[in-house]
Amino acid sequence: MSLDGTYDPDNIFAKILRGEAPCARVFEDDHVLSFMDVFPQAKGHTLVIPKHSTARNLLEEDPQILSPLILGVQRVARAVRAALEPDGIVITQFNGATAGQTVFHPHVHILPRWDGVAVGRHASGGMADLNELKDLAEKIAAKIA
Ligand code: AMP
Repeated sequence: MSLDGTYDPDNIFAKILRGEAPCARVFEDDHVLSFMDVFPQAKGHTLVIPKHSTARNLLEEDPQILSPLILGVQRVARAVRAALEPDGIVITQFNGATAGQTVFHPHVHILPRWDGVAVGRHASGGMADLNELKDLAEKIAAKIA
């Protein structure tokens, strides 16, 4: 998948948004949905996605959708910090397969980091247990301000 192409309405995040696939939900408002990454690179790896997007990446995204997305990212990242007390937090996103993008619906990664703890490989580690992810999601959700 290159940077250019057609939005696939059956991508996994579109399915999660329609309730056709499960997720460990952290937070939701009119604009964004946040849930735990199912192949986490670190404990507490959380995603934030726009709810009303048909863009494939950030470059294509409507500014009116991007603005509430980044506000949602800040809100969830603050909750991740409060819940898990990491030493740092990586906030990132990828555009195009060559850059590492694997799901072609815009999304932002929130990746807590702890001193001395290596980060896992992107989108290729083991699948996490959904119940464990739900516990983490609850802890983070409890800190949403
Ligand atoms: P990217 O590779 O930047 O497009 O990010 C996509 C992310 O979505 C990766 O970190 C995957 O681990 C994650 N992912 C893929 N499928 C699911 C799913 N069903 N639920 C939660 N996260 C997922």
